[in-house]
Amino acid sequence: MSTPIAVRIADQIRNGGPISVAAFMTQAMFDPRDGYYATKNPIGAGEDFVTAPAVSQMFGELIGLWCAQVWMDMGKPVPFHLVELGPGTGQMMSDIVRAGRAVPGFLDAARITLIEASAALKMVQGRTLTPMGIEAVWMNRIEEVPGGPAVFIGNEFLDCLAVRQAVKQDGHWHERMVGLDDGGAFTFVMGPQLGQEADLVPDRLRDAPDGTLVELRPGDRQVVEVLSRRFAEYPGRALFIDYGPAQSEAGDTFQAIRDHQKADPLNAPGTADLTARVDFEQLGKSARESGLQTAGPVEQGDWLKALGLEMRAAALMRSSPEKKSVIARQVMRLTEPDQMGSLFKVMTFSAPGLPKAPGFAGDG
Ligand code: SAH
Repeated sequence: MSTPIAVRIADQIRNGGPISVAAFMTQAMFDPRDGYYATKNPIGAGEDFVTAPAVSQMFGELIGLWCAQVWMDMGKPVPFHLVELGPGTGQMMSDIVRAGRAVPGFLDAARITLIEASAALKMVQGRTLTPMGIEAVWMNRIEEVPGGPAVFIGNEFLDCLAVRQAVKQDGHWHERMVGLDDGGAFTFVMGPQLGQEADLVPDRLRDAPDGTLVELRPGDRQVVEVLSRRFAEYPGRALFIDYGPAQSEAGDTFQAIRDHQKADPLNAPGTADLTARVDFEQLGKSARESGLQTAGPVEQGDWLKALGLEMRAAALMRSSPEKKSVIARQVMRLTEPDQMGSLFKVMTFSAPGLPKAPGFAGDG
């Protein structure tokens, strides 16, 4: 199917040759006029995909209490920045605030900042939060957040960051690019040998045999660098929840979701959500190399249970007995290994010197 972005990318390839998977992904998602996120809100049961905050209010509420605990562990700084990366519909932030009201001083101290690239989603977030009396400021990039103590959270943010792909050939990594086949359709083609970017190849996969496909995540590296610079100067902790393996895995995970179904990521760019799995092993490694303390990854199901999901569910069931089976299903959806419980992982990055992050056993 031809879309305005497909026409533009095809022209670009005819004129300048194949483009990287990352360039394709960025245009398909964030072209200001026709990009997937530029034009609509894709999140919800009637839309293209459902995320944990849309499954249940309990998810954002537990994260709200997590943020409040981190704030207390930092010594209750006033003010501090409460920053959400990629807030989608604003649902999670509204649940965070509702739960945060139980913690004296927490919301008064919080300067709520939303990092959002999509103008359409900024509007949706405003419509969710303004009626609740929540004052927030919007920024386009994480680098823009002013100095000071901060808590960062991002659910399904990292999976949206553009990935590059490479395949090993004759002992060297070559970039896998997007070109055109004889019929004018997008197709993957082999590009030049990677230069310096080869150091983004996950350490575990460096010595993989010829034919191995790997994904490079320059966006993760950039987020880690911004946080490490910031946390060297100011106290803070960042929480990321996303889907992906605990150990680096080879293979193509670049995928499209449209109408809750997997679709061909090269077909009809701008009309489907494009993501790739987060590599938590490499993410943690690059964070520690940048001087951050890390905890996790732990599985989302275990983490939510450690934070008291089941108790929260029982309390909701007592106050709304007619919703008992709905709430039970929500808990299963968030925690069961064959649903979101295992594939989704939780990880934190922290400034040195903070106590152990809530919900993480063992390391701090
Ligand atoms: N956290 C929400 C939404 C997940 S979808 C939820 O769990 O429901 C991904 C979100 O990240 C969207 O709001 C999208 O517009 C935003 N986003 C993706 N890449 C971004 C980037 N590079 N900068 C800012 N926002 C981005």
